[in-house]
Amino acid sequence: MRRSAAVATGWLPRPDGRGKAHKLGRRLLVLCDHRRVPTPRRESAAADPGLDRMSHVETAVDTTNPELDAVAVEQDAALLTNGQLARMFHEIGDMLEVKGELVYKTVAYHRAADAIAHSPVEVAEAYRAGNPPRIPGVGAAISDKLAELAQTGRLQFYERLRTEVPPTLVEMLDLPGLGPRTVKLLYETLGIENVEALRDAAERGLLRDVKGLSARTEESILQAIATLETRPQRLLLNQANAIVDQVIGDLEGTPGLRRVEKAGSLRRWQETIGDLDLLAETDDPDALIERFVGLAAVDRVLNRGSYKAAIKLLRGPQVDLMVMPPGEAGTYEIHFTGNKDHNVRLRGRARDRGWSLSEKGYMRLGEDGEPLAGPNAELRTFATEGEAYAFLDLPFIEPELRQDRGEIEAALAGTLPTLVTLADLNGDCHTHSDRTDGVHTVEQMAEAGRRRGYAYQVLTDHSQSLAIARGLNAERVEEERELVGLLNQKFAREEEEGTAPSGTPPEGFRLLFGCELEIRADGQLDFPDELLARYDVVVASLHVGRRQPRVELTRRVMNALRNPNVDIIAHPAGRYIQRREDLDLDWDAVFAEAARTGTLLEMNGSPHRLDLSDHRARRAVAAGCTLTIDSDAHRIEELDYMRWGVSQARRAWVTPELVANTWSRAKLLDWVARKPERVS
Ligand SMILES: [Zn+2]
Ligand SMILES: [Zn+2]
Repeated sequence: MRRSAAVATGWLPRPDGRGKAHKLGRRLLVLCDHRRVPTPRRESAAADPGLDRMSHVETAVDTTNPELDAVAVEQDAALLTNGQLARMFHEIGDMLEVKGELVYKTVAYHRAADAIAHSPVEVAEAYRAGNPPRIPGVGAAISDKLAELAQTGRLQFYERLRTEVPPTLVEMLDLPGLGPRTVKLLYETLGIENVEALRDAAERGLLRDVKGLSARTEESILQAIATLETRPQRLLLNQANAIVDQVIGDLEGTPGLRRVEKAGSLRRWQETIGDLDLLAETDDPDALIERFVGLAAVDRVLNRGSYKAAIKLLRGPQVDLMVMPPGEAGTYEIHFTGNKDHNVRLRGRARDRGWSLSEKGYMRLGEDGEPLAGPNAELRTFATEGEAYAFLDLPFIEPELRQDRGEIEAALAGTLPTLVTLADLNGDCHTHSDRTDGVHTVEQMAEAGRRRGYAYQVLTDHSQSLAIARGLNAERVEEERELVGLLNQKFAREEEEGTAPSGTPPEGFRLLFGCELEIRADGQLDFPDELLARYDVVVASLHVGRRQPRVELTRRVMNALRNPNVDIIAHPAGRYIQRREDLDLDWDAVFAEAARTGTLLEMNGSPHRLDLSDHRARRAVAAGCTLTIDSDAHRIEELDYMRWGVSQARRAWVTPELVANTWSRAKLLDWVARKPERVS
């Protein structure tokens, strides 16, 4: 699969593995801009003299606009803002992508663009002063370009690219089956610059005359466009969180600012996020709003008031900021965190007690059921959520629970669960190495796990039939087993000598030997029982034959559940959020059998999966199942995916006892060792 620049920069998701960053921006163009503008950023260019210069190549070509070019030349030495530089480098990334340039190169430009957008110093100014700042992701090649831009106000490389391909072409690469070569061909032969024009041409039957294309191409392109437009466009949790962290970082140091907090669905750690919400406590609302709408990463200011503002980020989502008066955060946080249903319940409870509840606080109601006004008005505000809940005789309710799924009843009954936390976890039962489809070596992965303070990490490289992931055959399994043995000897030695990392738990750290065992399309398991019996932990999962009927799929999973050596079912629903449907399983049957056999069901922490979902995990627990929370890390950094698994588990009301990897290593190994008894 062609991986796109945007994905690799960590920006936004693309359901097909490509990032969505472009798409949000580009879709806006596609859906709202029917004027067929020659360049995608003309709106901004018109409003911004600096950008005119950037697009002066087009304006020069576009003979309707000769004056703009003249203006541009005069302003050559003007300094570009960070926002303008960021746009430019994003466009370079796009154009290189269309030209079929290597992914790492296009990624480099998008990364640099992001870093410039969030740079605390004015980059062009610093370059011109001969004091180039160190910007993450900016190497020699990009640094030279920044220097050229700072000195001359223009960049030849960029201008040359603009004469070759309009950056809008990149949106067409989102269509499955359409590669850079075809996109360029369509542009050169028919002048097609964006998806909208492509649709138009396909509908009018113009594509079939292009060499190498046919009526069938037209059909499949129209189909692909239709699919693209109905595809959900929300941010994955990790992406939303990273973006918000960046914005919060950008706001740091604003005069009067006491703190900025995440709110909305992100604070509830919902699976996917639409708009982002921030709450800020500040003594100087004007300064904060000013700073917020003026951030270099801002694409457009959507609205701006005295106490709130909304922006759309460059290649990113909408972010709303709300200012809270200092010391009155309690009801603001409640209002902007709970989902609608939770808040409706709280307002109802307040009303029953003679108060109305809004973000501003509780207002005493009069006889007529309206808040008292004038001298009789009474407003109660609270510094913390705990106090604001206590006003309704409710205990603090964890943000993840605020969805009106029984949490108010539980709060009243005193039965709110003590939710599992990251700190409760003693190990990770699902990780990969570069021996199959991971990035880092077994040793690197193990060392990273050890340094997280775990007592164990299970190495679960893929089994033989998953060729796409270079699954291990029996011989390579043996090699890996030896490797794991050697590493564990080293860990034991260091623990004895007292040279193990300081966070190592009293029981020490061990890399457990496991595999991710393929449940094959024919229902058979990928390794024979004799081999499986030699693993510490076996994680079984299903990656192929996903479209089989429910009966077949369920039978395959049941077969794994009943195997004496299968300990965990990984990512049971096999979903990819916004990308791939869940497996059609008889879930009640699966949960019942998992409970009976003591087979653990995974909550996969990959933000692409989060599988089991919170609803399913709750059902599984109700059916008597025990869970694991795993990262499914394919590289060291992804060991952090554990946090998303935990947030998902918390949304499912999961307590530590229900999660097998909160147990000690000894208890976990004892549990899996007794699987044969349970299935016999
Ligand atoms: Zn898997
Ligand atoms: Zn895996």
